[in-house]
Amino acid sequence: MDIAANLELVSSRIAAAAEKSGRTADDVELIAVTKTHPAEVVREAIAAGQTLFGENKVQEARVKIAELPSSARWHLIGHLQKNKVRHALPLFEMIHSLDSLELATAVGRIAEEEGHRPRVLLEVNVSGEGSKFGFKPDRLRTDFEQLLALPRLSIEGVMTIPPFNQEPEASRPFFAALRELRDELQSTSGASLPHLSMGMTNDFEVAIEEGATFVRVGTAIFGERTSWRKRIAPEADDAP
Ligand SMILES: *Cc1c(COP(=O)(O)O)cnc(C)c1O
Repeated sequence: MDIAANLELVSSRIAAAAEKSGRTADDVELIAVTKTHPAEVVREAIAAGQTLFGENKVQEARVKIAELPSSARWHLIGHLQKNKVRHALPLFEMIHSLDSLELATAVGRIAEEEGHRPRVLLEVNVSGEGSKFGFKPDRLRTDFEQLLALPRLSIEGVMTIPPFNQEPEASRPFFAALRELRDELQSTSGASLPHLSMGMTNDFEVAIEEGATFVRVGTAIFGERTSWRKRIAPEADDAP
């Protein structure tokens, strides 16, 4: 596995997709998703110049982050259990997966207790299928004012995981729907939601064409993870 070469290839594909849609490579940040991969592998990516990484489980991230240079920045991209919030806050620069008003309220309360100001994205289940986590769009419309009123949280955008499909174009309607929902929430509330976290190995170029500001790419950089289940059903310690 030549991680440096993979990173270079992914970066050039990001730049090409950005240019194709009238954007620049600087408009899109690559999150290298390291779940299931050991710290040694992440170290290779750091040596190749990658600074931003994504993990989907707090426990796994906690162990890995402790072994790696503090220059690495981490985003939590998987479901956050309420009993892991206190551990998560000091580890992650951004949480992409606030998926209910209840969880967001808990994060705000704990952030206040611990003196953090977390940057967060709201996860949306645009399709109503696929990912079992995420706000349904109507629920988010209903809850949005209350979310904005929560203390401490810097709500910077939205995230989605479309249903898995081999065909990248199949994700386009879900990415477009997320962008449209973001635009709607901005115009009805006056809030600024600059970030769209969408696109994985299979469909990140389509996501960029639809406005992604963060793409979350694992397999194209680090190779296949060991089990199929880990890819879409990260069970173990962070399952509900
Ligand atoms: C694992 C994961 C990714 C990366 O998936 P790849 O298909 O390996 O690029 C992206 N986002 C989330 C939320 C993930 O859990």
